[in-house]
Amino acid sequence: MERIKAIGIDAGSTAIKVVGINEKGNIVFYKVEPTSFQMKPQLEKIIEELPKDVPIGATGYGGDLISNATITASEIRCHSKGAHLFLKGPGTVIDIGGQDSKVIVIDQEGEVIDFTMNDKCAAGTGRFLETTAWRLKTPVEEMARFAEKADREVQVSSVCAVFAESEVISMVAKGEPMEAVIKGLHRALAKRVASLAQSLNIIPPILLSGGVAQNPVIKSMLEEELKEKIIVPPYPQLMGALGAAIISMESKTKVTNR
Ligand code: ADP
Repeated sequence: MERIKAIGIDAGSTAIKVVGINEKGNIVFYKVEPTSFQMKPQLEKIIEELPKDVPIGATGYGGDLISNATITASEIRCHSKGAHLFLKGPGTVIDIGGQDSKVIVIDQEGEVIDFTMNDKCAAGTGRFLETTAWRLKTPVEEMARFAEKADREVQVSSVCAVFAESEVISMVAKGEPMEAVIKGLHRALAKRVASLAQSLNIIPPILLSGGVAQNPVIKSMLEEELKEKIIVPPYPQLMGALGAAIISMESKTKVTNR
């Protein structure tokens, strides 16, 4: 394996992401695993298996649990840093994670101009599709494929993820085609995220990150809702961990900067 210059760990509420980067900032190693209830021992085990004597940047919900991190930085800062590698200038980052979503406007240098976050409500996050996927016994990764098969959309009107799940199940029970209902569910999520983005003065280009960025239907619906083209970088779920790794490589001393 290529020599790892820095490591980034994004200890998210749904998934833990680890990246190793070379001196050019390219990802040479990565790992994604679901977050367990016992996050601290889980993180300790992950760290045990990583190369030693390499700076570690930590971020995410459980970032403070990584005691041997060289630097701990906020998710907003890490996501901006990671996204700036691809945007290479000013733009907007839309991050849709498992339990929150964020919109960050960055300047030419990748510094944060403005941001907003939804961490109070599951609608507008990955959890919105996940709960229904569980009920339909479908892997969340397959949800987009169902939506793509639909020739129409059934409107999901519930603004709450819990009610939307019941609404979807009852519509399918009443005979609406599952594909059309799932497409409607994607639309409800895209609208919710678009309205979060529209609460800021967003500037193009827009980069989509987070686990949900791997869903092509959400990407194209967000493009429709925002009337802007959206860039999905390779490994969108790793954006925060990548940013943390770069920040740790740039920092020489142990500091906490959240
Ligand atoms: P967090 O940082 O909050 O832990 P992530 O950015 O890691 O979240 O994203 C996790 C979310 O991404 C979960 O809700 C999961 O369902 C969703 N997800 C992961 N892969 C896919 C996929 N291929 N399609 C749709 N959603 C996905």
